[in-house]
Amino acid sequence: MKQIKKAAVIGSGVMGSGIAAHLANIGIPVTLLDIVPKELTEGEKKKGLTLEDSQVRNRIAKVAIEQLLKHKPAPLTSKKNLSLIEPGNLEDHLSKLGEADWIIEVVVENLAVKKKVFEQIDQHRKPGSIISSNTSGISVEAMAEGRSEDFRKHFLGTHFFNPPRYLKLLEVIPTQNTDPEVVSFMKEFGEDVLGKGVVFAKDTPNFIANRIGTYGLLVTLQEMLKGKYSVGEVDSITGPLIGRPKSATFRTLDVVGLDTFIHVANNVFENVTNEHEKQVFDVPSFMKEMANKGWIGAKAGQGFYLKKGKDILELNPETFEYEERKKLNAASIEMAKQQKGSANKLKALVYGKDRASELLWNILAPVLVYSGDLLGEIADTIVDIDRAMKWGFGWELGPFESWDAIGVEKSVALMKEQGLAVPKWVEEMLEKGIPSFYKEENGDLYYYNGSEYQEVETNPKVINLKQWKAKHGVIKKNAGASLIDLGDGVLLLEFHSKSNAIGLDTLQMINFAVDEMEKNYKGLVIGNQGKNYSVGANLALMLFEAQDDNLFELDMVVRQFQQTMMKLKYSSKPVVAAPFNMALGGGVEVSVPADHIQASMETYMGLVEVGVGLIPGGGGNKELYLRHLRGIPNGVEYDLQKVANKVFESIAMAKVSTSAEEARELNYLTPADGISVNADHQLYDAKQAVLALNAKGYKPPVKQKFPVVGETGYATLLLGAQVMFNSGYISEHDLFIAKKLAYVIAGGKVPYGTEVDEEYLLNLEREAFITLIAHPKTQARMQHMLVKGKPLRN
Ligand code: NAD
Repeated sequence: MKQIKKAAVIGSGVMGSGIAAHLANIGIPVTLLDIVPKELTEGEKKKGLTLEDSQVRNRIAKVAIEQLLKHKPAPLTSKKNLSLIEPGNLEDHLSKLGEADWIIEVVVENLAVKKKVFEQIDQHRKPGSIISSNTSGISVEAMAEGRSEDFRKHFLGTHFFNPPRYLKLLEVIPTQNTDPEVVSFMKEFGEDVLGKGVVFAKDTPNFIANRIGTYGLLVTLQEMLKGKYSVGEVDSITGPLIGRPKSATFRTLDVVGLDTFIHVANNVFENVTNEHEKQVFDVPSFMKEMANKGWIGAKAGQGFYLKKGKDILELNPETFEYEERKKLNAASIEMAKQQKGSANKLKALVYGKDRASELLWNILAPVLVYSGDLLGEIADTIVDIDRAMKWGFGWELGPFESWDAIGVEKSVALMKEQGLAVPKWVEEMLEKGIPSFYKEENGDLYYYNGSEYQEVETNPKVINLKQWKAKHGVIKKNAGASLIDLGDGVLLLEFHSKSNAIGLDTLQMINFAVDEMEKNYKGLVIGNQGKNYSVGANLALMLFEAQDDNLFELDMVVRQFQQTMMKLKYSSKPVVAAPFNMALGGGVEVSVPADHIQASMETYMGLVEVGVGLIPGGGGNKELYLRHLRGIPNGVEYDLQKVANKVFESIAMAKVSTSAEEARELNYLTPADGISVNADHQLYDAKQAVLALNAKGYKPPVKQKFPVVGETGYATLLLGAQVMFNSGYISEHDLFIAKKLAYVIAGGKVPYGTEVDEEYLLNLEREAFITLIAHPKTQARMQHMLVKGKPLRN
């Protein structure tokens, strides 16, 4: 079995530096090489440096690495990962290629340049190392021409999407000479280690996602011009309404950059012979003119959109003037909005008789037909095509899933009526009486493979909860949560309320889950597959009670939250929490009592209650404090005040991690907690963690007293807040909240170093919480957050 212990990335531009960062994020050391500059910068001249100095010779890669800290969204999951990337250049450091197990070429999109780089790699690599290209569309076979046999056996395309940390798709493109073992290794490595969704693509221009995606964008451009729609109008129906990203059509083009887009489109134009394709891939002249003017999108400050002051204006492609942004209004849009899910929305939209429907049909139908035509040529299965579009372009539904959504029979009839040439295999499928490309049966998913239904192949580590429940049912369900048997003696508690907010029904289900686990199971996973793990406790419910002055009821609710968390913590069987994306407030509080946290790499965790004028009420203060204390190695002397300061600071400033790695730096996770790089594997990983804890002979934690900083520490905690208040940075209510928080963290009015128990701190926490929620200014903050989605500073 191969292993990638060290990698080299050649080319430190947008993609090269992003790929290097992603490798560093998963702990693989990388050498990042680029060309040697031919000229000195002014700064270098001033320092008296010459072209022979290593600082200058490594400059391109070095600057790219430094820039990683400035890019948004952040390519690195932690600043610390920078130390894993070593800069160098393609003249002095070629010998480093001999140390790498994987060498990735990410230089300019130019065959001659890439071939030259591969010649150098061939001379310096060690036999058996894998070499790949990140080309967007150049023939992989052509790049390997002239290379040694061992090189060609280990060479393939690995096409990442921008930004590499965040976009899930990795297209893997083998050549005829690639060793099948290398191909299957790359798939496994891509999924299990890089955390990507791997799709096999054939060696054709632009591979899968960019071929279909570019076609779709170009058809949209043509239809916009033909139907005299405006840029804004097109975007108003090609975004979230149909399950596509917010950036819809033209904002996406602005972000990608018109220069890059034209380059990608030209690559198909130059490499295909089909007349229709040539015509579509011939970029409209107004767009070429935009590029000539330098209006290439976000990086130039203007493209299809221009930001003027607070306003965003749209380009009129006929007059080249920027105008007020427009939106389509139509009955079909209103109808679609009332439907649940993108599939139903799409169906409601395409068959209408207004301008919105016409546009949508005219841009969707050709893409469906085109995808059908390319099956076999660019990919072996419709599953690969759908996955590529979903994972690379952020579509909720791939082309064939969209086709199913609008009804294959009905749409094919309409296509034929309009003279569109429907792919023969699709017509044959209908003739056989097969009505859809996919079918789900007892929780198993099947796709049409050109002659019959075949089960969709997925990595065994992928648990699709919707399918799992269809197959295995649920043990118990209420409005907020469900309890599911995950197999092998492991239970899963799934949240499914709105935004996965935690309410009484969730707490009831947790209580039930713990009882059930203790009686009949080996352990419990708390996880779900919603948009976010949980955005916190149900604010609306609490505000409602608070405004009604039901403080006694609120006290009961908070008590119940605290007790449920204690029950989780001290249950006789292991509990593993699996947070991902946003895990805020109460979302943190149901994670930290677990014996183990198996977080997704993208976990944004924080106790953010102060934003709504509160402090954590479900044991969050206490658990974060304990996690900080536990992080101190045995026998090491430490300053208790510093520990308290750190916890206070995290909560008072509502710090939210930008990754699981950072959540660990903030002590939400311990070094022993796990991180799943592949979000689709998270529930599997969490289940394995339960089984491992169980196999080790699990024993619940023993209740222990712990020291607090007490009355003197309280004063110290508040120093900063007092200064900020005195200089006008925070309001009186902010200071009031800070005082309540400090009181809880400090452990109240006891001498410094007093040992207290958990219940004691929970009582302080609950009292503080109730005082705060009774305060009108806190209620105003809660109301503002619920109505406006933003914090109120009062
Ligand atoms: P870029 O222009 O940002 O970076 C290219 C790098 O190549 C630069 O660091 C440059 O110094 C280096 N370079 C230039 N001439 C060279 C030479 N003669 N020898 C060696 N290196 C040289 O480009 P990018 O966007 O990072 O694209 C790199 C590759 O990735 C291309 O093949 C591109 O098609 C592909 N790609 C790009 C994207 C994207 O969104 N930008 C996405 C997927 C794939």
